[in-house]
Amino acid sequence: KLTIGIVGLPNVGKSTLFNALTRSDILAANYPFATIEPNTGVVGVPDPRLPKLAEVYSSQRILPATVTFVDIAGLVRGASEGLGKGNQFLAHIREANAICQVVRVFADGNVTHVDGRVSPADDIETINTELILADIQTIDKALPRLEKEARVKGNDKDLQSRLAAIKAAREILNEGRTVFNAGLDLEPLRELHLLTAKPFLYVFNVDESQLGDETLLASLRELVAPADAVFLDAKIESELIELDEEEALELLQSTGQAEPGLDQLARIGFHTLGLQTYLTAGPKETRAWTIRQGATAPEAAGEIHTDFQRGFIKAEVVSFDDLIDAGSMVEARSRGKVRMEGKEYVMRDGDVVEFRFNV
Ligand code: GDP
Repeated sequence: KLTIGIVGLPNVGKSTLFNALTRSDILAANYPFATIEPNTGVVGVPDPRLPKLAEVYSSQRILPATVTFVDIAGLVRGASEGLGKGNQFLAHIREANAICQVVRVFADGNVTHVDGRVSPADDIETINTELILADIQTIDKALPRLEKEARVKGNDKDLQSRLAAIKAAREILNEGRTVFNAGLDLEPLRELHLLTAKPFLYVFNVDESQLGDETLLASLRELVAPADAVFLDAKIESELIELDEEEALELLQSTGQAEPGLDQLARIGFHTLGLQTYLTAGPKETRAWTIRQGATAPEAAGEIHTDFQRGFIKAEVVSFDDLIDAGSMVEARSRGKVRMEGKEYVMRDGDVVEFRFNV
């Protein structure tokens, strides 16, 4: 299960956001037998295609894809040197597949800032510095061992190229940059589990009044590009989940937002993790299944059941748009829009699929 670790300095609104995330209750409603750790929040990925598909099939229920967030407390200046809960913090963050930084933008005289002033750029630098220092330590521990191995083995090509990649990463980190977007081949670095080689995404916790300030939002977006940015007011998000649908819509409209920030966060987080969905539908349920981008048809089948992957024969595939245009599977078939795909087929987002397999 891929997870996104939520980090940020103290008092930026992490708990407020995380509580809103965990209370959105997607699991309790749809996956009653799943166990959730207390520091884990599972949210549904909103997908307007699902209700449309459910209508075509008169499905009894809808199961969206989900994203799992893990609250990783304890990031303070000096965490890489073991300050605060430094070591524990680093161990937890290493397990996450992507990192979501919560950054305070809201001004509130009653909420102290650890550094005495609200400055998103400085906060991001503080956090990144800790992650960069931790990665430098990791590399400096690994390098002597690898260099020795390289000397012993002589002309081992694979080892040489791994060494070169690690040294290149060390250079990047030395310049105070993170590894993920530095243009390096990440594959040879994988064994090191570097923190800054994970994809990042940023949540800017803004005031309600700042939500409409396009100049401010654009400058923050630029600050973290090419990483994705989500803008939300954590306080409003925690209020939204308390309301029924109609009241929530009213509150949203009053803030000028088209959808809750949590919905945006789920969608963007899903993308940051490199995931996509395909869809299945029937009278019982319409469901979005999670696969990595680039997954083949048998791998997608394996997401439903390992037997489906093992006994895979072919996949009957129609794109969501073609199916909705046709209005039914029968009509889509007669229009020649339904394809038979084999083992090599690479799944596309929004494929509606039925698998054929041997048991
Ligand atoms: P954490 O230490 O990062 O987990 O921060 P908390 O979620 O505990 O928030 C710290 C304080 O800031 C609490 O008093 C929150 O009510 C307040 N807070 C959180 N988000 C917002 C926000 O968007 N606007 C304002 N004004 N206050 C917020």
